[in-house]
Amino acid sequence: MQQFPCPFCGERDEREFHFLAEAGKERPNTTVSIDDETWARYLYKQRNEKGEVQEIWMHLTCREVFLLKRHSVTMAVSESVSLRQGC
Ligand SMILES: [Zn+2]
Repeated sequence: MQQFPCPFCGERDEREFHFLAEAGKERPNTTVSIDDETWARYLYKQRNEKGEVQEIWMHLTCREVFLLKRHSVTMAVSESVSLRQGC
């Protein structure tokens, strides 16, 4: 079982975490009309890159939302950074 580092709690079992999104994904401007394909691409399509990736995860136990940098092939985690403001 893989361990993920929560910035608040430390190393925990991967089953305690929930993937939220790829980091850096730009939300379409919804103040103007956008087509269905643009919206679907934003919601459902992932880059699914091989190598170093940056993702947003939540630790379900403490509700911490954080940026996780990991390698998508080896699953090695290189960094885990809280996204809370003012901490
Ligand atoms: Zn936590």
